[in-house]
Amino acid sequence: MFVGLLSLFCFQSLSLEAQTAKQFDFDDPLKEQLRLSGNFGELRGSHFHAGLDLKTNLTIGKPVYAAADGYVSRLKVAHFGYGKALYLSHEGGYASVYAHLDRFAEDIQNYIKNTQYKKERFQVELFPSKDKFVVKKGDLIGYTGNTGSSGGPHLHFEIRDPQSRPLNPLDYGIEISDAKSPIPTVLRWYPHNKNGRNVETYGQNLSLTQIRPNEFLAESLTTSGRIGFGIGAYDQQDGSSNKNGVYLIKTSLNGALTQDILFDRISFDESKFMNRYMDYRHYRERKQRVQKLFRETNNPLGIIKILESDGYVSIEPGASYVYRIELMDHSGNQTTIDVPIVGIESEDSQIIQASAKLQDQSGDDLERLTEIPNSSATSWSESRYSVFFSKGCFYESTALDLSVDSEILRLDRDRFAVYKPIKISYRADHLSPEDLAKAYIARIDPYGKPIYQNTSRSGTTLEASVSALGNYGVFFDDVPPTISLRQPAEGQWYSKAKKLKVTIKDKETGIADYRATINGRFILMEYDYKTNRLTYDFSDAIIDEAAHNLKVVVLDNAGNSTTFERLFYRKADD
Ligand SMILES: [Zn+2]
Repeated sequence: MFVGLLSLFCFQSLSLEAQTAKQFDFDDPLKEQLRLSGNFGELRGSHFHAGLDLKTNLTIGKPVYAAADGYVSRLKVAHFGYGKALYLSHEGGYASVYAHLDRFAEDIQNYIKNTQYKKERFQVELFPSKDKFVVKKGDLIGYTGNTGSSGGPHLHFEIRDPQSRPLNPLDYGIEISDAKSPIPTVLRWYPHNKNGRNVETYGQNLSLTQIRPNEFLAESLTTSGRIGFGIGAYDQQDGSSNKNGVYLIKTSLNGALTQDILFDRISFDESKFMNRYMDYRHYRERKQRVQKLFRETNNPLGIIKILESDGYVSIEPGASYVYRIELMDHSGNQTTIDVPIVGIESEDSQIIQASAKLQDQSGDDLERLTEIPNSSATSWSESRYSVFFSKGCFYESTALDLSVDSEILRLDRDRFAVYKPIKISYRADHLSPEDLAKAYIARIDPYGKPIYQNTSRSGTTLEASVSALGNYGVFFDDVPPTISLRQPAEGQWYSKAKKLKVTIKDKETGIADYRATINGRFILMEYDYKTNRLTYDFSDAIIDEAAHNLKVVVLDNAGNSTTFERLFYRKADD
């Protein structure tokens, strides 16, 4: 009876969405049996994935088709992020997005190239007028690729609502065959935070045993008071071994609903709250993404359909309970996890135990922690460093272990999620102007390697805004970038090649900018940071002399520059 009611709740909202979708009738943008390497809402770096990642057999160049009637409203070419991306606007304010493309359909490609040559930039963003590129559903709009921050060839596909909020494409006509049920990987429980410290500090694992297909039993929990749970899980779809996200998570206590989490729509404003929703500390320590099945302060996520007590449950002494977690995919395949709970007398015992355990484990000397209140800004300084935490920097008030040790700034450990960037300043008035120009603030990774942070200078002070706790330091980069070209050699004829490929690298601070010319004229070189490659397409045909004087200038983020020149010959294009 309870399951029936719950289904009614979910499928009512689904059928509403489905009715809206009918008007638009989105089609598969690859026109083939789709296989997913990523799905909507799954937890990524520091955001929820906004679309579907469609597999392309590890190749690039598959045709991409308009998923519905509409027009091209936005085109973007960028080194990072979506790389080459195309946005279609549809009736009613809906939109679809196609990202990491290798190139666009010919007329669109020509339009972008003209702009790139006019602006003499590879990275451009264009908003064509409504009647410039009108498309019908199924029209060719581009080709799949691996551009921007893409981990391998695929098509990233999104559907957005009139408020530009990404929607689950599976609710809007895109079909994926899926006969596999979700699989839990880790279960955790948390005493409700009583003494103001981060709840993740007290989280503990409960082991899971599979008792039947799609049924798991957790180890029994003896406790009392207000508690919450967290679950790590994945789902796989047919034709792919990728571990993707779960569509729906339902929880109940002795058959009474506590809450539903439904991955139907996530706005970009909401996406950064993933670090609040996820057990951040556990992720940093164990690399497992655990979704907290309760709503804390500063978590406005609309995927959480609150039903009861913010998802927490209250355990009374002497009573016994079964807390149930149901994981469901979009095709309705379901997995159940039961957690037996026995209520005991002393309400605070497990919190005290957990607290004592925490101090043993973390070695935190509570005396020396600096309190960062959530309700006001806080500054802290020691030796040459100053650190500014803005109001609401973390998701809640947080106590940090801050110190400077041998010129290394230690901002606690990367165990609390940062909501607003932390500003680090370094007083560098003891440096010569030459050294100051090459100095930068870096995050120091666990192996001691500096990772460049976007550093600005105001007078003799270095500044960087960072979004994670951890170790930081000041480093110097006086090594200019390297530029290499295998072919053509100096003075060589090079008429048959279609492309010119130059390798550019910078070890420390990274490539900030580059510019290439032949015979003094700008040539468009496409930059792929993943392969360190600049590529020029000779079919751009902007040079009509045989002698080609190539000049490439590359700048790194510390202002070091390298100039490379080569003379080669090429038959004039017909
Ligand atoms: Zn994607």
